[in-house]
Amino acid sequence: MDSATISNLAYLVAAVLFIVGLKGLTHPRSAVRGNLLGATGMLLAIVVTLLQQEILGFELIAGGVLLGSLIGAILALRIQMTAMPQLVGLFNGFGGAASALVAAAVLHQAVVALSSTAAPSLQFRVATAASGLIGAVTFFGSIVAFGKLQGLVGDRPLRYPGEQVVKLLLLLAALLCAALIVRNPQQISFYWYLVAAGSLLGVLLVIAIGGADMPIVIALLNSYSGLAAAATGFVLSNNILIIAGSLVGASGIILTRIMCKAMNRSLANVLFGGFGALVEDDQQDDVYAGKVTATSAEEVVMILKSARRVVFVPGYGMAVARAQTPVRLLSELMEQDGIEVEFGIHPVAGRMPGHMNVLLAEENISYDKLREMDQINPAFAQTDVTIVLGANDVVNPVARETSGNPIAGMPILDVDKSRTVVVIKRSLGAGFAGIANPLFAADNTLMLFGDGKKMMDELVAAYKEA
Ligand code: NDP
Repeated sequence: MDSATISNLAYLVAAVLFIVGLKGLTHPRSAVRGNLLGATGMLLAIVVTLLQQEILGFELIAGGVLLGSLIGAILALRIQMTAMPQLVGLFNGFGGAASALVAAAVLHQAVVALSSTAAPSLQFRVATAASGLIGAVTFFGSIVAFGKLQGLVGDRPLRYPGEQVVKLLLLLAALLCAALIVRNPQQISFYWYLVAAGSLLGVLLVIAIGGADMPIVIALLNSYSGLAAAATGFVLSNNILIIAGSLVGASGIILTRIMCKAMNRSLANVLFGGFGALVEDDQQDDVYAGKVTATSAEEVVMILKSARRVVFVPGYGMAVARAQTPVRLLSELMEQDGIEVEFGIHPVAGRMPGHMNVLLAEENISYDKLREMDQINPAFAQTDVTIVLGANDVVNPVARETSGNPIAGMPILDVDKSRTVVVIKRSLGAGFAGIANPLFAADNTLMLFGDGKKMMDELVAAYKEA
């Protein structure tokens, strides 16, 4: 067996590990094993690639690995859990940039060697152009998305007359450069014009989308980074890069679809609608004035003690406050008293898909108690107390309206149907969508104002004393 066959067989094993690993990621119980399988596949793919004879020296690779590991470790240690979406966005961007740069280097190499070797194949030329274009769009789009989520670039969508025409013209210019590269790869300057047009397109595409829709955009850019990698796989004729890139491309688009559905938006509406602006709501007084009932930890505990069924609904505020440990403690105390406890998880609660599941899983809260929106909604009517901890938009009843507010039409957790709702948050401040929430002024709602962790600690202490 020659070395190419051996590496292709190893790549096949790696690809199977990726796919089985992805399958494992579909359920929290098998997620850790899935992650390990995927990582093992990647290790195998990297080792096999490094063992290929075409690699002339390992010094640069070792330098890159060291530098990358250092930057990665610092980022991982310093990043706040709540800033994860923009970090993921940045990583996607780097993937896109790497694809475009690798394609450029290989194109350059092919052109230099042109006098002694045959002209590059059509597959190579088309894939190079695709890597350059998609990679550039991904990198610059991701940088803008990062800037928006990090507060470095304005949240509002940047709209101007004729913007779709401008983007269409840019796309046509990029495709023209791509055609010229495919026709004659020796004109390397056209590759860089293509990258320039793609870069500008990436900026314009994302800057026109509001901050609130950035997570969907990041999922989409994730998919693009996979497509760019797959294209680079064709440039290098590297099977594992083609497979891994395609898997990222496909899973990114599936995640984009899931998030659009959970926010009740179509992808076209996200990309071209210019919605998702963070609105400043000035109608808070009308909604809240004289109608909000504040409560104390002791009063809440009295209600809990006579409850038979309690549901926790965590949101972004639980993540910020890191309040998951006292949530578990209180749930255990209540269960010891025979109270049925469940957790209602909205698909876009927090700031990334699965955010709440990860935090609650860290506390070893049984997966069987985590209920998805469709499962738990019919049960709110039979719930004595729902504790809404740092959630806002995902329980805002104005989402039931069909239009007129940024979350109109978004499916929500029907917490207002429970007998009593206790909302824990620091103020009447708005959530991600920036709008008032009539739930806080409802007759059956009690507001426990304060930091999520502090209030949960107080509830645990008061429960033990009662
Ligand atoms: P929201 O952003 O709607 O609300 C969070 C609430 O938490 C705020 O109103 C805030 O109120 C409160 N809060 C903040 N800090 C604390 C603290 N230390 N202690 C207690 N409360 C605190 O969160 P939801 O989870 O309800 O909704 C998520 C929103 O994010 C949705 O609009 C969703 O579309 C969007 N989104 C979701 C993504 C995802 O993938 N999950 C990605 C990106 C956006 P106060 O200041 O008064 O304390």
